[in-house]
Amino acid sequence: AYNFSAGPAALPESVLRRAQEEMLEWHGAGASIVELSHRGPEFMQVAVEAEADLRALVGVPDDYAVLFVGGGATTQQALLPLNFAAAGQAADYVVTGHWGRTAIRQAAPYADLRIAASGEIDGFHSIPAREAWRLSEDAAYVHITANETIHGVEFRDVPDVGDVPLFADFSSSIASEPIDVTRYGAIYAGAQKNLGPVGIGVAIIRRDLLERVGQPRADIFDYRLQLANGSMLNTPPSWNWYMLGLTVKWMLAEGGVAEFARRSAAKSTLLYESIDGSGGFYRNQVDSAARSRMNVPFFLHDDALDQPFLEEARAAGLISLKGHRVLGGMRASIYNAMPLEGVQALAQFMREFQQRHG
Ligand code: PLP
Repeated sequence: AYNFSAGPAALPESVLRRAQEEMLEWHGAGASIVELSHRGPEFMQVAVEAEADLRALVGVPDDYAVLFVGGGATTQQALLPLNFAAAGQAADYVVTGHWGRTAIRQAAPYADLRIAASGEIDGFHSIPAREAWRLSEDAAYVHITANETIHGVEFRDVPDVGDVPLFADFSSSIASEPIDVTRYGAIYAGAQKNLGPVGIGVAIIRRDLLERVGQPRADIFDYRLQLANGSMLNTPPSWNWYMLGLTVKWMLAEGGVAEFARRSAAKSTLLYESIDGSGGFYRNQVDSAARSRMNVPFFLHDDALDQPFLEEARAAGLISLKGHRVLGGMRASIYNAMPLEGVQALAQFMREFQQRHG
């Protein structure tokens, strides 16, 4: 089957097979990697390699720290103001979909939260023009969601926000194309779309920002302490970290982010052409300049067809196409592990379904 789940999402088959092989015993260690101490030499090697490989894949310069974090992307949304904004300091948010709204809810207790721009008035079908953003001069940072997983809206350019650090939620698009990391103060992502299984995430933070005092917080919420402790202030999610490492190695071996950018363009173009060329049977209303290459939400012209669509798709080996409850309709998530053949199969199924029900 081809799995179009938005996350936890499909992982490359070769990664799953290798994990299966290594699960019972880790290279003669007498136990599996998830049964060994996270401070022992075996897991240390896994952790060090995962960071080196992630740095190589994403292109993270030395003046940026890489942290492996628990608690998902949502926890980072709360930790960013705690670590980088003084109590009561302004923080600017640009909201282009559901996850931007979530980020605001997590940050609200810790910052003077300001919505610099929002795409909500037009139903999150576009990204508000940069000229219309109302940025605060005293903001601790500006926050954007690089790719909105539910609304299918993706920034295609890095917005210029001057000297204020730009923080970006890259949960659903990291490693899908080259990122100029130097344009950001912080990049964070839950792993469960492009990087591996759920249960771990990454935070890539410009080192000078770690000097900021932020607000009183427990050690466990402190990025600087986490960095000083190699992201192991407490027992880390070692299996997830190991799986992330395998997934990153797979992406490097496949040709890295330039190759995934090429594949993502081919896959998303095919899908949007299928939708736009259906004469209104299927529709996606996102502005073509902001359409996501990773998550393609679409609607059938008659929602009475939703259930038959899902059932017939499943019978054709195309699973997890039901849209998020916030939007309804359908959504095809086509992350790095989704081969072009999967999208071709979906496009063909959509044509045939239209012939049967059109
Ligand atoms: N941000 C984006 C863009 C997401 O897609 C998601 C989850 O789907 C989240 C944040 C929340 O991530 P988590 O469940 O890891 O906290």
